[in-house]
Amino acid sequence: MEKVLSRFAAVSTDPYTALTTWKQDTGRKIIGCFPMRIPEEIIHASGMLPVVMWRGNEAVTLGHSYVHNFNCGLTRSFIDDVMKEKLNFMDGMIFYRSCLQAEEIPSTIELNAPPSHFLYLYLPPLYPGIPFRDFLIQELKRMKQRLEEWSGQEITNESLNNSIEIYNKNRSLLKRIYELRKKRPGTIKAREMLAIVHSSMLMDKEEHNSLLESLLPELEGRKELTGDKIRVVLSGGLCQTPHTAILDLIEETGMVVVDDDIYTGSRYFANDVTLGDNPLESLADRYMKKTPPDPTMGDWNTLWTDYMVDKVKENSAKGMVSLLIKYCPPHLCYYPDIRRRFDKEGIPEVLLEVEHEIVSLEQVRTRLQAFIEVIKGGA
Ligand code: SF4
Repeated sequence: MEKVLSRFAAVSTDPYTALTTWKQDTGRKIIGCFPMRIPEEIIHASGMLPVVMWRGNEAVTLGHSYVHNFNCGLTRSFIDDVMKEKLNFMDGMIFYRSCLQAEEIPSTIELNAPPSHFLYLYLPPLYPGIPFRDFLIQELKRMKQRLEEWSGQEITNESLNNSIEIYNKNRSLLKRIYELRKKRPGTIKAREMLAIVHSSMLMDKEEHNSLLESLLPELEGRKELTGDKIRVVLSGGLCQTPHTAILDLIEETGMVVVDDDIYTGSRYFANDVTLGDNPLESLADRYMKKTPPDPTMGDWNTLWTDYMVDKVKENSAKGMVSLLIKYCPPHLCYYPDIRRRFDKEGIPEVLLEVEHEIVSLEQVRTRLQAFIEVIKGGA
């Protein structure tokens, strides 16, 4: 078990080495996907490896000549990595407009450091009506066609359905690990859970599935790592991986994470693809799902706050830790509503503003300790 967990942690903390080694070993191409909604299954069906772009492991330096320093950490760090030629092992990149800050990234890349293959997708917001679904299906067809050109391999309905099944299996294995954590809080540390999900975004899915299958029975037999701790839920963290040091602090200060609503967490594997006659339509239908509510999708009728309140209640959690990525407009726009609603419900909530650069951990510790006092005071 420790070997598998170490492997996931190694991939998550150093994707550069893991992916260059994978490429050397397999001779296959790697395609980077901007988080959070590109259907990786189509890339997988073309025989190439889809990987979700990540926040790098260095301070941003060169990148600040190309992107504002008031952009979110993910976009700044990604541009920095590209300009430092750290992502040259990627054969292609696929972007879409997820938010205001993501909008300028593709053109910056295309103008200054174009990869061998480049695709900008127009993925629609979740406004109601059939035209959006039809438009999305046309875009997915365009994506499929482009991937066939890049890979020199036809993507048949059969190969795409096969990839969807592999991805569905990964989602169901990850869900089982989440269920285990809910049932036996503390069995899996928050940093371990992050590495498990994040590595899925970076590894060959068949290999990830097989490692998860060997890990699950071991985890089921693992002793709980913590005693009587305060149950909390994590939320936010759009696109960007949270700092593991912050996750450790949450646990060190007396809490245990029982569930989350973060992208490098439950959002990544939410919703299977329902297989039907047309796999592209099936992928479009997964994209159009409104749960979990996504603040980047322009769907103001779906209430993210309701979803979060329900998540806290269904997990019998005592509070929620919001990880707000600095300068992330979609989360910032919703946050006042979230705060008001949690106050109204009497559910303690603490906001931790996180950056790509490490924040002052002592300040975070103090906020978390104060948060615990609030929870205990209301208990
Ligand atoms: S949604 Fe937030 S984290 Fe994601 S790219 Fe936009 S600003 Fe950055």
